[in-house]
Amino acid sequence: MKIVFATNNNHKLSEIRDILNEACEVKSLKEIGCDVDIPETGTTLEENALIKANYVWDHFHTNVFADDTGLEVEALNGEPGVYSARYAGGEGHDSEANIQKVLKNLEGIENRKARFRTVIAFIRKNKVTGEKEVSLVEGIVNGSITTHKRGTAGFGYDAIFIPEGYDQTFGELGMDIKNEISHRARAVKNFAKELEDYIKE
Ligand code: IMP
Repeated sequence: MKIVFATNNNHKLSEIRDILNEACEVKSLKEIGCDVDIPETGTTLEENALIKANYVWDHFHTNVFADDTGLEVEALNGEPGVYSARYAGGEGHDSEANIQKVLKNLEGIENRKARFRTVIAFIRKNKVTGEKEVSLVEGIVNGSITTHKRGTAGFGYDAIFIPEGYDQTFGELGMDIKNEISHRARAVKNFAKELEDYIKE
């Protein structure tokens, strides 16, 4: 069976292909000829994941899943959340500026609790009725925000996030540990269960 992952991020693609193994063939947006940068206009992670999955369903009529991730800081009322990529403004993905903004906003604040949350939207055709079915799964890793950057592994906010049960940041722990306990790994495992059930139906 084939399924589309509504992304062109090669790291995410190889991660999911590893977990799903031979269970099904995962195609990227590029591989199905979709070169649109689907606008993420939602105000929640769920909405954005659904926007991306629905775009592919509507235009390519294929089973599809899409993800969205955010860092949710308790003392900042869940910010940067859905705006994690562009928290410091601009086009986004300026990780250094985003990190500095989080650290500045938390200056003098004792509550450093935070979590990473990944949501995956899965849209497929019911094998009996032929109707569209939609579901959402999530993966969470709880932790806390440091007062300064530590470590160089990973990306995004990894250098300021210490997962619960550890003393080091994701930036210090490195990818092997991160890939076992991360929000994305947990969401992908939950999604893999749903997908395997669907394949068996
Ligand atoms: P995306 O939805 O996976 O593109 O993630 C949105 C933003 O959240 C990224 O641009 C990063 O700033 C941040 N982010 C997502 N996943 C991680 C992670 O595993 N570590 C650190 N930052 C992350």
